[in-house]
Amino acid sequence: MDAFDLVVIGTGTAAQVASARVRKAGRSVAIIDRLPFGGTCALRGCDPKKMLLSGAEVIDAAHRMRSHGVNGEVQIDWKNLVAFRRTFTDPIPEKRERSFEEQGIRAFHGAARFVAPDAVQVDGQVLRGRLAAYRFCAWETEGKLSQAARLPLWLPTKIFLGERRMKA
Ligand SMILES: Cc1cc2nc3c(=O)[nH]c(=O)nc-3n(C[C@H](O)[C@H](O)[C@H](O)COP(=O)(O)OP(=O)(O)OC[C@H]3O[C@@H](n4cnc5c(N)ncnc54)[C@H](O)[C@@H]3O)c2cc1C
Repeated sequence: MDAFDLVVIGTGTAAQVASARVRKAGRSVAIIDRLPFGGTCALRGCDPKKMLLSGAEVIDAAHRMRSHGVNGEVQIDWKNLVAFRRTFTDPIPEKRERSFEEQGIRAFHGAARFVAPDAVQVDGQVLRGRLAAYRFCAWETEGKLSQAARLPLWLPTKIFLGERRMKA
C-alpha cells in the first residue's frame, strides 16, 4: 500500500488546482483518472465546445449579413472542424501527465474505488490518503482545502468525499 498526504480522484480543473497547491505546500500527492488526463473542460467540455461553436457562429454571421454586402454560401466541413478541434485536445493528456510528473505528483490511470474511508483502490493498487479530494473539490478548493494548503500544519482537518462530509 502506498501512502500519500492527498489522493485526488480526477485530473480536471479542480484536481489540478488542489493537487498543485497541496504539492507546493510540500505534501505528497497522488492523482487518479479513469479517462485520459485533462478532465471535462479541456477535453470534452468548455474548450472543444468553443471551437465547434466558432464554426457555427461564422455560418450564422454570414447568414445574417446576406444581402447586406455579403454573398455566397458558407458551410461547415464537419470532418475538418473536428480535426481542428483535435489539434487542441489531443496533446492535452500527455502534457498533463508531464506536468504532474514535473511537479512530483504520482499519477495513476484507472477507476478509483474507495476500499476504506481513507483508501482507494486503482488498478489493483491501494492508495491511502490522509486527505481525499473528489471531483466536487472545485467547490471545496474555494474554501477549506485551498486555505488548508497554505498552512504548514493543515492536518488533521475535515475532509469531503464527494458530497459527504467526513472526519479525517
Ligand atoms: C459540453 C460542456 C461544455 C462546458 N462548457 C463550459 C464553459 O464554457 N465554461 C465553464 O465554466 N464550464 C463549462 N463546462 C463545465 C466544466 O467542464 C466543468 O465545470 C468542469 O470541467 C468541472 O471540473 P472538475 O475538475 O470538477 O471535474 P472534471 O473536469 O469533470 O473532472 C473529473 C474527472 O474525474 C474523473 N473521475 C470521476 N470519477 C472517477 C473515479 N471513480 N476514478 C477515476 N477517475 C474518476 C473523470 O474521468 C474526470 O476526468 C462545460 C461542460 C460540458 C460537459
